[in-house]
Amino acid sequence: MQVLSQFGILQKRDLPAVTQSVDLDREEGREFAGDVLRHLRNVAGWVGRVHQFNPRVSRGIAAPQLGICYKIAIVSRPDVPDGYLELINPRVVEVTNEEVADYEGCLSFFDVRGRLLRPYGMKVSLDGRSEPRVFTGSLARSIAHEIDHLNGKVYTDRALMPPIPVAEYQRMREENRIAAAPVPSRLTWLVL
Ligand SMILES: [Zn+2]
Repeated sequence: MQVLSQFGILQKRDLPAVTQSVDLDREEGREFAGDVLRHLRNVAGWVGRVHQFNPRVSRGIAAPQLGICYKIAIVSRPDVPDGYLELINPRVVEVTNEEVADYEGCLSFFDVRGRLLRPYGMKVSLDGRSEPRVFTGSLARSIAHEIDHLNGKVYTDRALMPPIPVAEYQRMREENRIAAAPVPSRLTWLVL
């Protein structure tokens, strides 16, 4: 926790509630977004070097977690080592009606894990204006988690029950008491 604070990662109540969009029509806005994305990747790299995560877990970090109150975030890509999806003013255009409950963690709530419902799939324009892409499963969950940060929300607001300590979560995993998140047999898309 202290290490994360050294990296500038804000915890819980210190997270900003309001963020601004980036003006991608202006050169300054695009350069600013590039600088913030580089910084987010650096911080994610530092965290990855001091803390071992379950490799199956997709990770992300949002600019507001570093006190940068703009709609910019990254999410690690499971298909590319050290690769990240870049979100700038992301826009969710459709979600599946089918929701799945699973556990999430957050660098701003480092000592706990919480279980919550999210849509199994989302269609998202990552920069708010390009063609939406379809994301499902844990990647959709990670993107939804980061977009929450960009809207001043945190996952504990949505949790189905009070979050549990990480040690308890890990014990449950080791004892196979956490079932894999189910995959819906069919998907119904809802336009937002
Ligand atoms: Zn988070």
